[in-house]
Amino acid sequence: MNGPLRKAHCERRETSKPALRMAAILTVALLASLALGAARAAADAGIPPAVSCSSLTGLSLPNTQIISATESTTPVAHCNVIGVIDKRVSTQDPDGFTYGIGFELNLPDDWIGRFEMMGGGGTDGSLQNPLGSAGTELSEGWAVASDDGGHEDAPGNPALGWTDDDPNAGGTAHFGIDEQARIDYGYNGIDQTTLISKQIIAGYYGSGPKYSYLWGCSNGGRDGMVASQRFPDYFDGIVSGNPGFDLPRAAVTEAWNEQQLAPLATRTDVNGQPYLPPTFPPQDLEVASAAILSACDGLDGLVDGIIDNYTACTDDVVFPALDAFTCSPGGAHGNTPHGGTCLTAAQVTALKGIYAGPTNSHGKPLYSSWYWDAGIWDPPSAFGAGFGAWNVSFFGPPNVNTAINLTLGAGAIPMIFTTPPVVTPVAGPNGQEAFVFSYNFDTDAPKIFATAPGYPESSMDFMTAIQFMDGKRVDLRPFNDHGGKMIIYDSINDGIFSAVDLVNWYNSIHGVHAGDTQSFVRLFLIPNMAHCGGGPATNSFSANMLSAITSWVEDGQAPNEIIAANTNTSSPFPSGGIFDPRVAENFPTDGTRPICSYPEQTRYVGSGAANDAANFTCVEPPAAKSHHPVRTR
Ligand code: CA
Repeated sequence: MNGPLRKAHCERRETSKPALRMAAILTVALLASLALGAARAAADAGIPPAVSCSSLTGLSLPNTQIISATESTTPVAHCNVIGVIDKRVSTQDPDGFTYGIGFELNLPDDWIGRFEMMGGGGTDGSLQNPLGSAGTELSEGWAVASDDGGHEDAPGNPALGWTDDDPNAGGTAHFGIDEQARIDYGYNGIDQTTLISKQIIAGYYGSGPKYSYLWGCSNGGRDGMVASQRFPDYFDGIVSGNPGFDLPRAAVTEAWNEQQLAPLATRTDVNGQPYLPPTFPPQDLEVASAAILSACDGLDGLVDGIIDNYTACTDDVVFPALDAFTCSPGGAHGNTPHGGTCLTAAQVTALKGIYAGPTNSHGKPLYSSWYWDAGIWDPPSAFGAGFGAWNVSFFGPPNVNTAINLTLGAGAIPMIFTTPPVVTPVAGPNGQEAFVFSYNFDTDAPKIFATAPGYPESSMDFMTAIQFMDGKRVDLRPFNDHGGKMIIYDSINDGIFSAVDLVNWYNSIHGVHAGDTQSFVRLFLIPNMAHCGGGPATNSFSANMLSAITSWVEDGQAPNEIIAANTNTSSPFPSGGIFDPRVAENFPTDGTRPICSYPEQTRYVGSGAANDAANFTCVEPPAAKSHHPVRTR
């Protein structure tokens, strides 16, 4: 009972007293909630608007214009609000572009008292339709907001009417030339949009949110982790998926990975740079996956194509398997329907270099190592943004690199994650790809920590949730004191963010919080899943995740496991390949598994169907000597 009561008290502090006095309906609901000790009572009451939708255009808000407020009936009756915070013309950007924090807010006619701020994605730059990150929140009666991170990618939202791209200077990452736009992207967009959204909600319904949440993945996951530290009293519940909490160092890694693959290229692309798709075609990634599985699949007690005991799948275990799958001189390679039967020695060298993580010329680690995972093979029928999509990609036109590291990443590295920004055209012989392939890990990598005239915050400052850098420690006590709960999930085959790095972060805060971390922050790791979804994996869990965070916040029920399903519409494991066909047999579409709260891992109980979560449990593996130590940074 303490949880809901304490939350109700906190929320009253956030809400203006006159608004509460006038809101008779909410008061009834609040009393009902307290009396019943059930937070969902407020949800059951249903809160109608106190004013008309169109009247919101006349709302007076600091530095904010409400551009439109329009009634809609899809997916439920609601008021759609579009506005901009701090609209301005940049004096720092040579293009003189217009910037501002564009935002969109959906206010259902039958509001259940919950608010969700949606995290962004990539380098932001557009407004998501705020339906909720699980896709169902607005339909369920939540008020939901999104923002564009402080800049608009072409073609821009028609309601806002501007764009901030310049193909000759960073493309969609052009905004990195403007310091305020960098800060808006790093943390201020979420800050301002949350505050303004709560004010609009209070004006519309006569009271502010009873419970506030943030859910995002990738850069949106970063938004959540940053918010838990910078704005510890904004949100009662945060879901951070595949979080880029350490994004500048991951960006350094993007350049590192491409340079590991570059020696394998045998021709150049349209920009005169190494053409990477042939370096690791799908059939060769399938071989790599088979090698990793041969070493690690059974470590969890079940040969099923999923490596649940990822902590035991160390270099010591995997390297002999990679050696065993290395082509002998003159051996077969790349000549069967599903590809080769072996990897070249150069491919194995590249893999080892990538999974070890970047270093400078003195051997100093610049990011993190990675867990070995079978999802490295991310077949087209279950395509996700895993290893292949970020590092190699094989879906572009001939001679055009489409690896995400060479598109999204290549724009962001010089313009956002380097200070001062290096103005770089998108294409051409001196374009973004050239910047990545010539990136120097001794002289360029330190610039993620640099400041410069006109750029007083380094990218590590404005982007990350690791304030324990340089001797400082993450302190989540204010978030915990507020009563906040945070679920972080990550996939082990994420192609851009290393789960090892996240585990190190999690273990580090465990120390800070004297072993109390589990009481308010839990981590869930998903084998085989790609970045934020996809892959031959149990990647379908949105509804259960939403239920897990609301139950934790409102009912005090901490999640020990989250049931996830494989909903790939076709089997990702074609017959005839080298990949173990038992995976398809044991784990067909709609199979379910529990995803366990770290450090627990999923284990088969020894009997029953292997595609049914009921036959699995969560256990903490015995501490094993790992090649993934927690580093002192
Ligand atoms: Ca297994």
